Amino acid sequence: MKSADQYSKNTNMRALQFLNGQLQLSELPVPMAAEGEALVRVTMTGICNTDLEIVRGYAGFNGTIGHEFVGVVESAPEPGLVGCRVVGEINAGCGRCRLCQSGDPRHCLERTVLGIVGRDGAFADYLRLPMANLLVVPETVPDRAAVFTEPIAAACEILDQVKIGAGMRVAVLGDGKLGQLIARVLGTTGCDLVLIGKYPEKLRLAEDAAIKTVLKDQVNIAPAERFDLVVEATGSPQGFEMAVALTRPGGRLVLKSTFHGAVTIDLSRIVVDEISLIGSRCGRFDRALELLVSGEVDPLPLVSSEYSLDEGVAAMVEAGRHGVVKILLNHHQVN
Ligand SMILES: [Zn+2]
Ligand SMILES: [Zn+2]
Repeated sequence: MKSADQYSKNTNMRALQFLNGQLQLSELPVPMAAEGEALVRVTMTGICNTDLEIVRGYAGFNGTIGHEFVGVVESAPEPGLVGCRVVGEINAGCGRCRLCQSGDPRHCLERTVLGIVGRDGAFADYLRLPMANLLVVPETVPDRAAVFTEPIAAACEILDQVKIGAGMRVAVLGDGKLGQLIARVLGTTGCDLVLIGKYPEKLRLAEDAAIKTVLKDQVNIAPAERFDLVVEATGSPQGFEMAVALTRPGGRLVLKSTFHGAVTIDLSRIVVDEISLIGSRCGRFDRALELLVSGEVDPLPLVSSEYSLDEGVAAMVEAGRHGVVKILLNHHQVN
């Protein structure tokens, strides 16, 4: 294993790569930042279900995986940013199209996405991103919490899509990484919330955060018990079916799982009962950081364990085990 100075600037770095169907720790040159981009030395990352899906072959991605990160700016066009601790929005738009010009590169047709589409990701010692994507992390938020900014932002997207009032009946389906964060974020609205899951030990984590829970097999699916808003975050087609069954007539159903493959659904319920389906992906980072600063969302109990980047392959296996919530990768050199 190499020492920290052997990985210093302008030499090689470690990168957890998915190449030709194989996950491996590679040694690569430190990337060169393109125009308008910053080079970030990554200090900590989180493993997300999307990473697990990529190594199952979803999205046809080849390269360095990972998109949930916190790091320190090594170089940037704006010198004031150098040395700052940052997190970063993962979508990098072309900057020229109508969507980019209107300030929303998340849906740019030519976008690259950190560690997901056409851009090397965060499970490496260094990454590059447009400077505009970076947000400085307030000092009071430790790396272990800051690394959750991206998935918390994804949860916050729901707040921008649906007006959730106090007392509104809301169900979140799925007790995994994302479902847990969504429940914590929606819980800040004062809505009448329940998290529905499969694993008692995961539901306990939510209960510790004062969130009502129920095991999926014990859910009352009587029509009178249906919810105003249901968020599907199970990652399974069966979860989608249940989500439809739990949404009241005129209610809203937010889809957070990215299934690969087709899902069979009974559209008649959606039409007859006028249920609105809402696709939901990335959200605003500033709002997520506010929730971390205020302490309204505390992601730390969701950390199942922490590995070093050198153990990245083993960490990915662990992250896919049932019962495991969040696995973090510590990028500090061990020797
Ligand atoms: Zn993610
Ligand atoms: Zn664009």
